[in-house]
Order: sequence, then C-alpha cells, then structure tokens
Amino acid sequence: MECSIKGCPGKYEERKIAHTIRFQGRVSIIDHVPAKVCSVCGDVLLGLETVEKIEAMLQKPAMPVKEVPLFEYAGSA
Ligand SMILES: [Zn+2]
Repeated sequence: MECSIKGCPGKYEERKIAHTIRFQGRVSIIDHVPAKVCSVCGDVLLGLETVEKIEAMLQKPAMPVKEVPLFEYAGSA
C-alpha cells in the first residue's frame, strides 16, 4: 500500500510498534501493537480493529507489565 503522505515514495509495511498514548493526563505505552509503517517517512497507520482494542484496554486498564522511564524534552530556553 502506497504511503498517504503527499510526495512520499514509501510503502507501508506490517510492523509491531510501541504505541504511545496520553490518557487522562498519563502517558502510556502499549508495546507490540500491529501497525502499518511507511518505510520512508515512518508514518504509522493503525487498523480500526486495533484502535478499538486499544480504546477497550484504556477503559479497563490492566497493570502495566513494565515501568519505563519517561523523559521530558528539554527545549532551549
Ligand atoms: Zn511515507
């Protein structure tokens, strides 16, 4: 499938990604989410079924399997 970003010659490939979401002010990462990722620009497409599954997960949050460090991007002040 051709990339949907204008001018990008890439194609989407099936990959497993770490999907980051902000929900109720908290940042969560769901690892190994099946997605289509453009091989050139990295644009990510999630299937409707995948999005619904993630939303269902957020309604009933499970205990995280792992805690990861969260860093703030330090911009030049
Ligand atoms: Zn692309």
